[in-house]
Amino acid sequence: MYDIVIVGAGTAGLSAAIYALRAGRKVLLLEQLSYGGQIINTPEVENYPGIKKISGFEFATGLYEQAKDLGAVVEYGKVVSLENDIPAGDEIAAAEGISPDAVIKVVHTTKKAYPCKAVIIATGAKNRPLGLPDEERLTGAGVSYCATCDGAFYRKKPVAVNGGGNTAIEDALFLSNYCSKVTLIHRRDTFRADAAEVEKLKSRDNIELVLNSTITSIIGEDRVKQLEVTDKNTGEKRLIDVDGLFIAIGQIPDNSAFSPLVEIDAAGYVVAGEDCKTNVAGIFVAGDCRTKTVRQLTTAASDGAIAAQDPAKTETPFTIDSGVPPAGVRMCRLSPSSTPSARMLKLLSMLR
Ligand code: NAP
Repeated sequence: MYDIVIVGAGTAGLSAAIYALRAGRKVLLLEQLSYGGQIINTPEVENYPGIKKISGFEFATGLYEQAKDLGAVVEYGKVVSLENDIPAGDEIAAAEGISPDAVIKVVHTTKKAYPCKAVIIATGAKNRPLGLPDEERLTGAGVSYCATCDGAFYRKKPVAVNGGGNTAIEDALFLSNYCSKVTLIHRRDTFRADAAEVEKLKSRDNIELVLNSTITSIIGEDRVKQLEVTDKNTGEKRLIDVDGLFIAIGQIPDNSAFSPLVEIDAAGYVVAGEDCKTNVAGIFVAGDCRTKTVRQLTTAASDGAIAAQDPAKTETPFTIDSGVPPAGVRMCRLSPSSTPSARMLKLLSMLR
């Protein structure tokens, strides 16, 4: 049985694995398609502290190899459900030296079930695509979903941003610092983004707002050259010359396998604070699939390190939420109403 099953081998999941493995835990990484997550598609990463420039592929491969070298087992399959508080049963009990009644967690893929002591959800999120015919072909050749990652490649060049949420507005402001012109295209004339951020937009000379409009075509052979934009009210079409298009129309997480056991918000993100703890003891969440405001490579790695802390602790070697100790470990059962000094006395008496 694994100590920790990590669902998702992107930056958050691999970082969690590295921390847990270095703490001596037995770790399984479950990945649906291929390791690396979103960053593997980024041509160049220039904002990871300590690394001046690296391709997303090289970065992800480095993380993957680091986890593998430390002993991570990686298996492929789509996780479809997660069970909590399942009795270990005789076979696992004998192998682990625990009571058959001790409770464990079981992660199910379409092919197999993986019993474990703790789970870290690190499923990431996909950028919502516009769904235009040439969008995928031109991704990495002018089409980007991350201004922070790719914006610097468009210095002194005209770009467009699509969206009306905080991400789009922040992207437009960020890009306007060094792009010659930023055209912000949004399908409505009011914004989802914070009013203060929208006000900032209006004070920038090099930002043009194209509202009530949608992008109907991305034009370019090898690279993006123009956008065809259609006014939703008049149906009028216009062409805008750009070198880059930053699509910021939200993200799509997929955490349905963990619901309703684990709390998921209306947008599909696993609810947790900066401690990466979900509403279920022993189930943690790391990276872009968590409720948070900054979704970056650095914050994914940081989440991985945090999420691995509790399950990696040697003093909690088994069933974090079961209260059933492994063989040879005595439990100190204290009344919730006992005072701190009474608890300390009881702990001291156990140590004698
Ligand atoms: P979002 O708030 O969901 O906004 C997505 C935007 O894209 C909306 O304006 C939406 O238009 C538009 N959109 C959606 N689908 C579209 C489509 N198919 N075609 C054209 N436009 C489309 O997403 P987000 O900006 O990524 O933000 C996600 C969450 O993170 C939000 O809660 C946001 O506040 C938060 N966030 C916070 C910060 C911060 O606090 N600094 C920074 C970034 C993000 P409609 O408005 O017409 O629906």
